[in-house]
Amino acid sequence: MSEPLRHPDHGSLVRELVDGTRGFHQLPDGIAEGEAAAIRREALGRLSGSHLPDIGHYSFDAETAAQRNVENLVGVAQVPLGIVGPVAVHGEQVDGDVYVPLATTEGALIASTNRGCAALSRSGGARVFVEDVGMTRAPVFQTSGIDETRRFVAWVADHEREIREAAEATSRYLRLTEVKPFVFPTTVFLRFRFDSGDAMGMNMATIACDRVVTDLIEPGTGVRCTALSGNYCVDKKPAAVNFQEGRGKRLFAEAILGEEILERVLKTTAESLAEVQYRKNLLGSIAAGSRGFNAHFANVLAAFFIATGQDLAHVVDGSMGVTFIEPRPERSVYFSVFLPAVPLGAVGGGTGLATQSEALSILGVRADRERPGRAVKRLAEILAATVLAGEMSLMAAFTSRDLASAHERLGRGGPLPEPGSS
Ligand code: ADP
Repeated sequence: MSEPLRHPDHGSLVRELVDGTRGFHQLPDGIAEGEAAAIRREALGRLSGSHLPDIGHYSFDAETAAQRNVENLVGVAQVPLGIVGPVAVHGEQVDGDVYVPLATTEGALIASTNRGCAALSRSGGARVFVEDVGMTRAPVFQTSGIDETRRFVAWVADHEREIREAAEATSRYLRLTEVKPFVFPTTVFLRFRFDSGDAMGMNMATIACDRVVTDLIEPGTGVRCTALSGNYCVDKKPAAVNFQEGRGKRLFAEAILGEEILERVLKTTAESLAEVQYRKNLLGSIAAGSRGFNAHFANVLAAFFIATGQDLAHVVDGSMGVTFIEPRPERSVYFSVFLPAVPLGAVGGGTGLATQSEALSILGVRADRERPGRAVKRLAEILAATVLAGEMSLMAAFTSRDLASAHERLGRGGPLPEPGSS
């Protein structure tokens, strides 16, 4: 735990926070962030009548966290971290065994995913493929009508080179790869797409869009930008445009499991897996109008995101996708997953926090300034394999009707559980 020197005004500042004469964000400048957190925590404890020793028990650097990750710092929310693997992953940036840290409060998720990893590794591993589709941001503009809308879109097309230069001047890691308009009569969305190196890129994209909108597009067209994010980006909402065109990283992973692995490790058969796949992941998702044609991508994504310092809200868009199960000769099965829009970063966001950066180190993910994009691709390849492992195990659990009994065992600390939801 960070334990800075107690500020001379500690007691009076706590009292001011408690009686409301000062807000949590109004502590005087110059107080070390660890001490500021202690003052807020003490006031919060008094205001809520709570004892908060664990919230104050953290090991990340308070100054950095307060600068980059959080305001009104009071401490930490701990989430247990488990490990799965080794899982054999065969991709462009990783070709071999990996151990994957997952942070979760859902008992059974780790055990189940680990079973999937075992099935994968004993079947030759997961073959993975990651496309760096690019981070998107779509400002929205208000025009007077169809004529101005058409002039506006033409102006943007005519000035693409200047727009690109201005956008890319905001970061040496940023490349503008596309500007795609979507128009209504009095409204234009410009969906900017960026390659952002090893960063997830949302902040970088937003800063670049702000620059080109303010310096070029508004003055050049006389058309006003209503919002820098026009919801056609689409960030942190499930959406068809992300599914079809991709956003962030597009992940693929596949494996063929033989009859023996299916029976011994997953306690299932190709035929019953295909039946559950058809009726649950496909028909069930159609009936529900869902874009998650999968069993539980979100479970693995959330645990992976917490462990590695990703933006957790991206589980919403990241967990869209499809699981594929196709029977193959000799009672084997082809199993694959497709995740079209997973925002991921190996630098920036929460990746620099103490435990998150250790988790990235376990995965062998280290950003290299000279080769931006490789580290995040490795991260994405490992995620794809882990999602595949999670899908395999849970789908197998459905075929053996193991899910409910696993829930029961779980709550009571029994052996070999299966994951909870989905
Ligand atoms: P994001 O844009 O992903 O939301 P940040 O706001 O933290 O996240 O921005 C990422 C920062 O990381 C940028 O300032 C960028 O210059 C820096 N950076 C350092 N190394 C790299 C790299 N290898 N690839 C991309 N960005 C990098």
